Amino acid sequence: MAIRKISEYPAEVLATRGEPVTEFNDELAALCADMFDTMYDAEGVGLAAPQIGLSLRLFVMDCDGIKLIAANPEIIRTNGEQSGHEGCLSVGKIPAVVVRPLKATLRAQNEKGEWFEREAEGYAARAFLHETDHCDGKLFIDHLPRLRRDMVVKRFKKEKSWK
Ligand SMILES: [Zn+2]
Repeated sequence: MAIRKISEYPAEVLATRGEPVTEFNDELAALCADMFDTMYDAEGVGLAAPQIGLSLRLFVMDCDGIKLIAANPEIIRTNGEQSGHEGCLSVGKIPAVVVRPLKATLRAQNEKGEWFEREAEGYAARAFLHETDHCDGKLFIDHLPRLRRDMVVKRFKKEKSWK
């Protein structure tokens, strides 16, 4: 079990589009195991490679009964709309209301390199979208109106300065 250090806003790696995963080997499986350990330790429901300082298109999640590894993820379909609280381990879990599609279909490769598609709704769909965004160098605060984004960043910096 290895817990990695979580990269926090405004780390450059979080704003950088990840490189594709090309090797599906023991090293990747070990990395994914570390990512699950790190995610559970931080009590998160998803974690993407850029959040542990690796510019790679890879995430793990365990949310609403959906536990998976997604390499080279893409969102191929969305439907509807939901508005709800969202937070991020890289932004101190400070919650903000984000409008997202209600349903999302993820296309990705598992740790063996096999492609799969998975549809989710509600909270799990939100996780698909949030984690795929990380692989594209995008944070949930990038979806917020300017003022609300500034408020989250301000609160995060304040909480950090207390630690
Ligand atoms: Zn996040």
